[in-house]
Amino acid sequence: MKIGILAYQGSFEEHALQTRRALDVMGLDGEIVPVKQKKDLDVDGIIIPGGESTTIGIVASKMGLLDELKAKANEGLPVLGTCAGAIMLGKEVSDAKVGKKSQPLLGIMDISVMRNYYGRQRESFEANVDLSELDGGMQRVVFIRAPAILKVWGNAQSLSKFQGTYVIVKEGSLLATTFHPELSSTTKVHEYFISMVRK
Ligand code: GLN
Repeated sequence: MKIGILAYQGSFEEHALQTRRALDVMGLDGEIVPVKQKKDLDVDGIIIPGGESTTIGIVASKMGLLDELKAKANEGLPVLGTCAGAIMLGKEVSDAKVGKKSQPLLGIMDISVMRNYYGRQRESFEANVDLSELDGGMQRVVFIRAPAILKVWGNAQSLSKFQGTYVIVKEGSLLATTFHPELSSTTKVHEYFISMVRK
């Protein structure tokens, strides 16, 4: 199994480590590779980490990767988008402050995402979220200038809610989290994604 991690900015190292830990827990072998160009997309699953969704989108589109990744995801390539990565996946995206603004996105998941939902005062915080749908129970996770998923429709299904918003959503082979699962002690989100990749 080969898992790619988009490596323009954001927590590549942490995602790589967490993916390795999850593979170990599951007793699986796997290769973890950075993805920057189209040719790197020869993977069985891909993680889009947090960072700044505008930057990630602009760079991915300049590298010619955005369209290719979108096509592959539509063909069933499993994608885990965390924080800015969840924004990249959304069909509907707006910003808490400036409202709707166009930015390059994958736009493939039936979710409505609001960027910077928690505003300045609570830019970053830790909270307990319910990972029981992922066989993980209550877990402490980190939100960093996090978006919120406010609406899901179509085939998108909520796997966890927190304070009235969706924090984990799955749609077929796509998985979005508004928090940073690579910064938690639990590896459950990565394990869950790996099991999606194995299917
Ligand atoms: N605020 C960022 C954005 O809107 C996301 C933050 C993150 O990924 N930690 O793109």
